[in-house]
Amino acid sequence: MLDTSKNSILVSIAVNHQICFTGVEMSKQSRKFKVPDELANLYDFANSLDVRHFTHHGVQHVQGDELGSPRELSAWMSRRGLLFTSAKITPAMFETALQLRTSVRSYLQCDPVERRNNAAARSLNQAMGLFPLVAEARSDRMALRGARDDALAGLSLVVAELYDGSVKGILDRLKMCAAEECRRVFFDRSKPATRRWCMSTLCGNRIKTRTYRERHRGVG
Ligand SMILES: [Zn+2]
Repeated sequence: MLDTSKNSILVSIAVNHQICFTGVEMSKQSRKFKVPDELANLYDFANSLDVRHFTHHGVQHVQGDELGSPRELSAWMSRRGLLFTSAKITPAMFETALQLRTSVRSYLQCDPVERRNNAAARSLNQAMGLFPLVAEARSDRMALRGARDDALAGLSLVVAELYDGSVKGILDRLKMCAAEECRRVFFDRSKPATRRWCMSTLCGNRIKTRTYRERHRGVG
């Protein structure tokens, strides 16, 4: 049986060498948008920065950053059961966490087929290098855990989710909305996995309407 303790990084190596994990409370957002549980922390982490600045029904969306300070990062991790120590997050560690988020967002912004071997991949590799995972023999199985033992240890799970998502072939479905005024990360559940917008009824329609107007103006 898997350990269901909320405060564990629970990454187990299955017989087929894929990695799976459990034990982390999933956010309402990831549930609402049916993001697979095994990518939920990655999804939430990437979307902790909200740069949306479009107007919807006459209301301007307010941008925000859930990780505005070391204290906010600590609270964010605590809510997800990713805080394993009472040690404080230092300013340097905070910068390390933000670097990981920046790299993750840049990577997800790339089209899946362009993600390999480009600058975004190199930047992500560099950021992930600060969150190594180690294999550990447990009573019932081999498991991976973050090698860090400081206040940022729990963020190693984000790296584990990147790896696991890639192994399972679902990471390519985690994308960033193509609308410049949105840039929300979303999980593409469409059969052909060709969605470009987080919500076709919002960003998709807005872009199509704008394109139509511009084309119309060009003809006129
Ligand atoms: Zn969008």
